[in-house]
Amino acid sequence: SSMLGMVGGGQLGRMFVHEAQALGFKVMVLEPEVGSPAAHAADAHVQAAYDDAAGLQQLADACSSFTTEFENVPAASLAKLAETGFVAPSADCVSIAQDRIEEKAFFTRCAPQTGILPAPHAILRTADDLNHVSADLFPGILKTARMGYDGKGQVRVKSIEELRAAFANLNDVVCVLEKMLPLAYEVSVLVARGADGQAVVYPIAENVHRDGILFTTTVPSPHVSAEAALKTQNAALKLIADINYVGVLCIEFFVLQDGSVVVNEMAPRPHNSGHYTIDACVTSQFAQQVRAMARLPLGDVRQHSPCVMLNILGDIWFDGTTEQDKERQPAWDKVLALPSAHLHLYGKAEARRARKMGHITFIAPTLEQAQDEMRQACEILGIAV
Ligand code: ATP
Ligand code: MG
Ligand code: MG
Repeated sequence: SSMLGMVGGGQLGRMFVHEAQALGFKVMVLEPEVGSPAAHAADAHVQAAYDDAAGLQQLADACSSFTTEFENVPAASLAKLAETGFVAPSADCVSIAQDRIEEKAFFTRCAPQTGILPAPHAILRTADDLNHVSADLFPGILKTARMGYDGKGQVRVKSIEELRAAFANLNDVVCVLEKMLPLAYEVSVLVARGADGQAVVYPIAENVHRDGILFTTTVPSPHVSAEAALKTQNAALKLIADINYVGVLCIEFFVLQDGSVVVNEMAPRPHNSGHYTIDACVTSQFAQQVRAMARLPLGDVRQHSPCVMLNILGDIWFDGTTEQDKERQPAWDKVLALPSAHLHLYGKAEARRARKMGHITFIAPTLEQAQDEMRQACEILGIAV
């Protein structure tokens, strides 16, 4: 079948649909929300929950290969689709990334090969586990084991007392307490692997977060040493092969002030920090996902221009004091007058604060020019730099 099945309807699904269509495929999206970014762009939309049996059956009837754009899709749904078709990445791989405890155990198990450990941490399943937490983990960050993203479900705690209060406040849901590390900067590595085991790794990307949400991605990274880049890229290739992963995987790393590298988490799909590949690389992360799931050869990951990616959040639709003015639009005309700017809007019906509405990539002959035009765009749009 030339129809690809996509579980999830967000912006990652939408950008996947665009690349799939360019490669001659049709896409059927399973997504409960009406008017979602991907459903809008897709060739067919099954409007049902991600675990709806009839919805999954419709997808299975129309498609022979499946993927997801949302890491919290029930692993059982992917396992169900695998009964009749090819699912990339597999339910087993996705479920590791859905649980910080399993994810950290995976990173730790592979550390003899990668040379990179996760942050020191403790697993908190019950209130009793709090009695055995090492004092060395403070100050720390309490993270829910499942379902967190964009810094949601995270609380910073300075002492065991604060930890007790925060854990109780989360209604004793299973958590991980991580030691707060002195970060110098953050990087991510995008890798892709085909069903034949062939793997490719993209250039290392440097990420700046604001309020727990990705703010900018810069490639090449202004800070990373050649040695740290090679180390993280090799680690990513070892990790993706170890679990026989097929598709695009993004792994986040911390580089500490002493130069050492720590692995943070992974996303079993194309990632916000990989959006730069659409405009700056021969093969985008979304085209790569299409190729992997359709068992086509993977594409060249070569980056042809330096690039800065700026996320556009819904905040700039608000002026700070009044309610959202539905007619008001950011000054895209002024942004598009910048020669390096590529605007990508996700077609979301309504702007909300902290909601990802789009991104702009700045593609220039030099990184300095890309950075300069990114700052100019921030000024135009009222984003503090
Ligand atoms: P994402 O949207 O990337 O999935 P998330 O909610 O899963 O985010 P993390 O990536 O674990 O959360 O953490 C969000 C940010 O918080 C990190 O990018 C980093 O800036 C900071 N952070 C997380 N863990 C630590 C730590 N152990 N030490 C220092 N800073 C940390
Ligand atoms: Mg995460
Ligand atoms: Mg993260």
